[in-house]
Amino acid sequence: MMTTPLSAGIPVGDGSSIVARARRSADDDKQLRDQDFQAPMSRALGLGTAGLVELTEIERHERLTRMREGTLGSVHSWELVTAVDGPGTRLTVFLNGCGLRCLYCHNPDTFLMKDGAPVSSDEILGRIRRYRRIFRATGGGITISGGEAMMQPEFVRRIFHGAKEMGVHTCLDTSGFLGVNCDDDILDHLDLCLLDVKSGLPDTYKRVTSGELQPTIDFGDRLAARGTTRVWIRFVLVPGLTDDWDNIHAIGEIISKWKNVIDRVEVLPFHQMGRDKWHSLGLKYELEETKPPTPEATAKIREYFESLGFEVH
Ligand code: SF4
Repeated sequence: MMTTPLSAGIPVGDGSSIVARARRSADDDKQLRDQDFQAPMSRALGLGTAGLVELTEIERHERLTRMREGTLGSVHSWELVTAVDGPGTRLTVFLNGCGLRCLYCHNPDTFLMKDGAPVSSDEILGRIRRYRRIFRATGGGITISGGEAMMQPEFVRRIFHGAKEMGVHTCLDTSGFLGVNCDDDILDHLDLCLLDVKSGLPDTYKRVTSGELQPTIDFGDRLAARGTTRVWIRFVLVPGLTDDWDNIHAIGEIISKWKNVIDRVEVLPFHQMGRDKWHSLGLKYELEETKPPTPEATAKIREYFESLGFEVH
């Protein structure tokens, strides 16, 4: 979903430093809150697919068959992070393909599924197995993000099934736009959903994403009705685009219906770290002149969600 705040990305290969870093997560949390007022930054999406075996030789027909059955995915990158993308230290895997076109997307190189690397579900599961001890020690797990992960529901299904068999916490980062693809079986294997509510008014949502708001509302309604998956709401505050109080109040109304499953609301200040990618891909970037919100403006929106009874970050 690429609406993440700051990266706490961890270089791979040195298990001890990962654990040490994880132990510092409370400090990291505080630092993240302080820093996001100073210099909103994107995560580095550190490693690309480095370290993962890519099945680039596979011929087209087999590739499509395997993608349909979910044994093969189109993967943008992965990283180990602490204090973002869910609790504890997490293996976050970013998938390619997204049906939305958020004006503030800081990774437009995930838009198209064909641009991702072909990586097997077994490869991802092998990596989850490798980090199991760290997940257990930190209360972490696997997070699947995008792009929009629900463009590849069968791939996600296999990974979540395998992760739960290993006793690993699962998290899905999604806009909910393709919530219909996230069937009850996937939800049965999903502990936490990071649900990006990009706007509360249909017109604003359309302007921000080029898509419709209703599918996200329907998905949130389903999560609340089931009550089995915890939810963190994410909202990107963009001056002149999403910061209108009518829009904020509309979000407040929508998410208040889901209180039984929401553990936190994250207000993420817009940043300009994605600008260069839009340029390098030759895409028109419409937020060229948009500034990050001020710390005061961000604090006000956070206070509003707090006043509704949410824990806000
Ligand atoms: S365009 Fe897709 S990947 Fe980018 S922020 Fe929007 S939902 Fe996320």
